[in-house]
Amino acid sequence: MSTSMKSICVFCGSSPGNHPRYIKLAKATGLAISDNELRMVYGGGALGLMGATAKAAHKNGGKVLGIIPEFLVHAEGAYTEAETRIVPDMHVRKMQMFEESDAFIILPGGIGTIEEAVEVMSWMRLQIHQKPIIFLSNDNYWDPLLSLIKHTIEMRFTPSWMGADLHAATTPQEALEIIQREWNNPKGKREIWVDYTKI
Ligand code: AMP
Repeated sequence: MSTSMKSICVFCGSSPGNHPRYIKLAKATGLAISDNELRMVYGGGALGLMGATAKAAHKNGGKVLGIIPEFLVHAEGAYTEAETRIVPDMHVRKMQMFEESDAFIILPGGIGTIEEAVEVMSWMRLQIHQKPIIFLSNDNYWDPLLSLIKHTIEMRFTPSWMGADLHAATTPQEALEIIQREWNNPKGKREIWVDYTKI
């Protein structure tokens, strides 16, 4: 791994999902990030896929930074064995997770995970950043969301370059390889607006 890429943000569910494969994938992701000497940035929770990923990375000797809003520390608990930053609210949390990270891995999760993924996709679409975004699952979990985004491209509500810049992986290693490849090949400035001249 290049020394210039330091931190990977993981967005994922605060629940374990309905099958052990989800926790298994989360643990493997935490291990892969720490094995590659990358820091894991995440939402700070101790539960579900969030807790499983962070604990695997931390117990493997990896650096982990959890960023959690105060109300969630009290409501459900933070994984404070790893470095934990308590922030006032969700907006500050998401901005700090964004600023502290060089790329995003999106593991299976619910509405909170989708919201986080959509925000970084939206900021990429607006060219606020070009940090790699990888959807990671080994059971096609993200296919419906990726199909919806493809639909918005086909209907010309999203620029077509976004289609090539969103990635899907089935193993953590594949996700990290894609991130490294993207990191080594920075994109030029993209067109923010959809080309409507061809309608
Ligand atoms: P979901 O995918 O709906 O489970 O949402 C995951 C997101 O929910 C996290 O990134 C947080 O925004 C939030 N969340 C829910 N429970 C917790 C928790 N115990 N600790 C931290 N974040 C949580």
